[in-house]
Amino acid sequence: MSAPSDSQRMEKIVSLCKRRGFIFQSSEIYGGLNGCWDYGPLGVELKRNLKDYWWRVMVHERDDVVGMDGSILMNRAVWKASGHEDTFTDPMVDCRSCKARLRADQLVEKKGIKQCPNCGGKDLTAPRAFNLMFKTFIGATEDESSLTYLRPETAQAIFVQFKNVLEVSRKKLPFGIAQIGKAFRNEINPRNFTFRSREFEQMELEYFCRAEEGMRWLDYWKEERLKFYENIGIARDNLHALTVPDEERAFYSKGTYDIEYDFPFGRQELEGVAYRTDYDLSQHQKASGKSLEYFDEETKQKFIPHVVEPSAGVDRTVLALICEAYCEDEAPDEKGKMETRIVLRFHPRISPIKCAVFPLLKNKEPLVAKAKEIVALLRPHMYVFYDETGAIGRRYRRQDEIGTPFGVTVDFETLGEKDLALRDTVTLRDRDSMKQERVPVKDLPSILVSRIS
Ligand code: ATP
Repeated sequence: MSAPSDSQRMEKIVSLCKRRGFIFQSSEIYGGLNGCWDYGPLGVELKRNLKDYWWRVMVHERDDVVGMDGSILMNRAVWKASGHEDTFTDPMVDCRSCKARLRADQLVEKKGIKQCPNCGGKDLTAPRAFNLMFKTFIGATEDESSLTYLRPETAQAIFVQFKNVLEVSRKKLPFGIAQIGKAFRNEINPRNFTFRSREFEQMELEYFCRAEEGMRWLDYWKEERLKFYENIGIARDNLHALTVPDEERAFYSKGTYDIEYDFPFGRQELEGVAYRTDYDLSQHQKASGKSLEYFDEETKQKFIPHVVEPSAGVDRTVLALICEAYCEDEAPDEKGKMETRIVLRFHPRISPIKCAVFPLLKNKEPLVAKAKEIVALLRPHMYVFYDETGAIGRRYRRQDEIGTPFGVTVDFETLGEKDLALRDTVTLRDRDSMKQERVPVKDLPSILVSRIS
């Protein structure tokens, strides 16, 4: 079987996502809404597992990080002080031939002349700044005084609440505040499925430290974040930590890494790990007139902490997980003939469904009753799916395609009809190797929990 080209692979992934209920176009029955996506029953599980694992590793398993959940709408003054109102822009160009609106850095250049990537036209307007924040109005009047924005990043709520969180958590430097939430950017050119969306989710940590330790924490967090991606099943070879060159970094940053992934459409950013110095807290202290200083009990000094920010996109990571997991191999059909099998080789930790339970036959009451008993046994520990329709091979295939790592089949041996020694045992099938082992029903929870946690 020849490997599909990268664009074919991407088409297959997009089609699988829709067919099996991972991701749908937003407002699809009205023709969609560019740059917005809805997650279906399996997509929402995958996304939730990713966010839960991030929270577990970044907050629950650490003594030095606490969480918060800020509002999406904030006082406009926040966006003035952070610099977003004036500078959160992409230079944008219009093509006068095909009327496309394009990002200036996405034009194609042939023999030194910039061209429209859609029609090849050379009649382009001069670049204009285009603010990426969505405007909205608070209250009944729609004028300057009621204007604010949908947040384009979650980080600012953390900076603005820095003092409150510091006081209630009684943390000492270095310590971090973590948050997961929606962000909105009016991207000029949403593309590559969910990769560049207008509404998306971020998982951000602001890790506050002393100025002299900033560069060390930057490297520490780059390594931690690479480990995180490996622990959710992304091969190290497909991940790259790019050192962002001086001229491309934000002016206040002393060092930034982009963690990139080899998507089928090219190597692209998954996460930015940036040393933002004391820029954000200083700006908010200046603009609000409220002290955002830290008091060091030992040295009796007051100062504004520096911050290192690992900022990851939930949606981009979900897309990377699906791209990484997508695989076509061969498996025997009902008659033993080899056929192409589509399988999502998710790490069990993030698979939407952990285990599927099948009675061998749906019209044999004792088999069905036993299978339902097993579902009830496993449910307190994991998301389980019960399926009794169709041939067993077909049922396995349906689960392979959505990445369910384990399948449990209840057969006549489970009922002890053939061999009493096998009573209350089931076959446990592994998605990737397709190997089956016979295990006692009572051991299933502990076996599965150890393999999925
Ligand atoms: P890009 O250069 O791709 O526009 P960025 O450098 O502006 O991204 P950041 O501001 O560093 O992105 O945001 C942190 C993370 O948020 C990104 O690494 C990405 O995972 C996610 N993210 C940013 N913009 C989008 C978007 N339009 N759609 C989906 N995820 C996004």
